[in-house]
Amino acid sequence: MKYIGNQWLNLHQQLTLFMTAQAHCEWCLSGLDQSHPFLCHNCYQHLPINCHACSQCAQPIATAGLLRCGQCQQHPPMFDYASTGYHYTFPLDRWLMQCKDHHSAMWHDRLQRLAGDAFIPPSILPDAIACIPAAHKKRFKRGFNLSYSLATHLAQILDRPLIHVFRLTPGRDQRGLTVAERHRNLRHSLHLDKNRWQQAQRQLDLGHILLVDDVMTSGATFERAAKLLKQQDVKLVGCWALARTLKAP
Ligand SMILES: [Zn+2]
Ligand SMILES: [Zn+2]
Repeated sequence: MKYIGNQWLNLHQQLTLFMTAQAHCEWCLSGLDQSHPFLCHNCYQHLPINCHACSQCAQPIATAGLLRCGQCQQHPPMFDYASTGYHYTFPLDRWLMQCKDHHSAMWHDRLQRLAGDAFIPPSILPDAIACIPAAHKKRFKRGFNLSYSLATHLAQILDRPLIHVFRLTPGRDQRGLTVAERHRNLRHSLHLDKNRWQQAQRQLDLGHILLVDDVMTSGATFERAAKLLKQQDVKLVGCWALARTLKAP
């Protein structure tokens, strides 16, 4: 099987594929078998699944049998557990960019499919799912909010209600900021909508909430959201994201 690595398809390849109109694997361009709608069996097996990871921060752990990484043992985050479907590496980073920056509805649907494939339900089912909102401007440009779609998908899988209790006021784009800047930025931009929270609380038991986002980078967004929930006496906060940015070795 020939991998194309990090290179984009050149125009000639794209035109050839268009002319032949043959269903091809998005990663290696070989013909598709029946096992997956856009990946061949071999590439599907090679997706960077985040399976050996810290149960609290979802960073990969090299030591077998260790549940939590040293960082979480010394300075645990506000959330109680976290997991992600994949590593934020090739090809997931490219596909997420296609979806979020190039506003591809096709990749939006495909990433939802990959999310469902990789999602492992937490051992204790949450009372509700809450998604991290996207900035209005981005949502308007894309026409969709990937984290909301992923949260909806997971809520369906778990048969749990989806609550909308967070509010995002305009702030700086988190991308490119340092961890400290991210925390500062979120303190000013991510809030709990008290009215919506009280409304949800009247209807549901909210002792355990699963937060959902598309990408877990530093964990600052989940940290801020978990802190806001813990301030409302939520006992257990879990996090799930489609992909996890890996710490530099
Ligand atoms: Zn392939
Ligand atoms: Zn950890």
